[in-house]
Amino acid sequence: MTVPVYQNFIHGQFLANHSGEKFAVKNPATDEVIYEVEVADSHVQQAAIESAKAGFALWSAMAPIERSRVLHKAVSLLRERNNELAKIEVLDTGKPWQEAECVDIQTGADVIEYFAGLAPAQVGTQQPVGGDFFYTRKEPLGICAGIGAWNYPLQIACWKSGPALAAGNALIFKPSEETPLGAIKLAEIFIEAGVPAGVFNVVQGAAEVGQWLTTSPDIEKVSFTGEVGTGKKVMQSAASNLKEVTMELGGKSPLIVFEDADISQAISAAMLGNFYTQGEVCTNCTRVFVQRKVYDAFLAELKQRTEQNIIAGDPFDPNVNLGALISKQHHTLVMDYIAKGKAEGATVLTGGEALSPETAPNGYFVAPTVFIDCHDDMTIVKEEIFGPVMSVLVFDDEEEVIQRANNTHLGLAAGVFSKDIQRAHRVIHQLEAGICWINSYGNSPAEMPVGGYKQSGIGRENGIETLDQYTQTKSVYVGMSDIESPF
Ligand code: NAD
Repeated sequence: MTVPVYQNFIHGQFLANHSGEKFAVKNPATDEVIYEVEVADSHVQQAAIESAKAGFALWSAMAPIERSRVLHKAVSLLRERNNELAKIEVLDTGKPWQEAECVDIQTGADVIEYFAGLAPAQVGTQQPVGGDFFYTRKEPLGICAGIGAWNYPLQIACWKSGPALAAGNALIFKPSEETPLGAIKLAEIFIEAGVPAGVFNVVQGAAEVGQWLTTSPDIEKVSFTGEVGTGKKVMQSAASNLKEVTMELGGKSPLIVFEDADISQAISAAMLGNFYTQGEVCTNCTRVFVQRKVYDAFLAELKQRTEQNIIAGDPFDPNVNLGALISKQHHTLVMDYIAKGKAEGATVLTGGEALSPETAPNGYFVAPTVFIDCHDDMTIVKEEIFGPVMSVLVFDDEEEVIQRANNTHLGLAAGVFSKDIQRAHRVIHQLEAGICWINSYGNSPAEMPVGGYKQSGIGRENGIETLDQYTQTKSVYVGMSDIESPF
């Protein structure tokens, strides 16, 4: 069967590569190749840079309010095409339709809308110094690069392009090689909305193309979303011309459930933070600490709800709420972690096996898995698994749980469930994590900055401060009187 072949999207149109090299993309729920994509070879790469230079010249010269109008049009188009785009995300990622339909495109559009609104509000400062004065200008950086992960492909493309474009930059975006199509659709939408050609180019490929973006001397900044190990490599290459970097990396986040919490609510949070998007969410609370007095009650309800309420299968079935993992390779990795959990002495409360649902027998499914009898030094408790695998740990007091929650080199997110508001804030303030929730988990509105402490990241996405991270400050000193000079 022949499948469509997508080319790189450069300067408002598709551009053929010269090498002829391409790669296949599979639907994780069926194990079938759904399309192929051409790799960005040196011809495409050079074209992407030339085009971005031309795009940047036009875009950065436009008044911010004009850029804002254009971006708002793109937001409308994203919302109008929600279902068409959500379908692409389901086919590429294997996630349930019931999620993609109301989350992926909406949360992407929200962020572009938010930054489109802020674009005309960016102001410089003015300050008198003696009889002279200076003023500052917020200027765009130039050509930026975005490199995305595969779990929220279109949302990640929107989260990077929103602030980059609002601030007047051009962006060359490389989606993950597992999920390349959503970014192309976003590029088409930008062109239709009136964004000049070259302002948002899409290059395709795996690590090599990513490496080129991180070393290109014409690129001023890299915004990266992916694994900690890859992030370190990206930062190292970005040092070649001292590029600015934003790093949105992995996590092993704690959820702390105190005995006074609403236990059913805490279980909802733990399930959302481990099984939503089949566990492939960077902020997941994969270490759930439960205070001893409520431990048994917590486990009983968690087991019952996990076994009764989760439906795995064809992601397009609107009742399905657990999709397929991204690839066969990732499926193997997650199953290996589960095997390690068992081997190191953790007990499977529920799940712990691969699934082959009737409606999607060839998909890469893993049962929602809860491990108990866990210790802090087990591999499953220490390493990011990025699948539907929760470790539940028991604790006795506040001081102990804070120390254990912080005992990791990662610091992306954290959650606390307690009805004691003073305790909830006191504990959250001591947790070493950038994205925190009290009596909630996972919400990430456009207005709220997100990013990690420690090795989970550098810089932030969303929120007002992110716009600044796509600008540089120019100070202009103005002499109002004669220069005092000894010469
Ligand atoms: P990954 O690090 O394998 O790949 C991410 C991207 O980097 C891909 O586009 C890939 O092609 C590219 N890449 C690979 N090697 C590269 C190199 N040497 N130089 C430049 N680019 C390179 O990550 P993944 O498996 O796609 O995504 C899962 C990871 O992403 C998890 O660790 C997850 O926690 C993290 N993540 C973080 C956030 C966040 O906001 N903090 C969001 C989503 C995912």
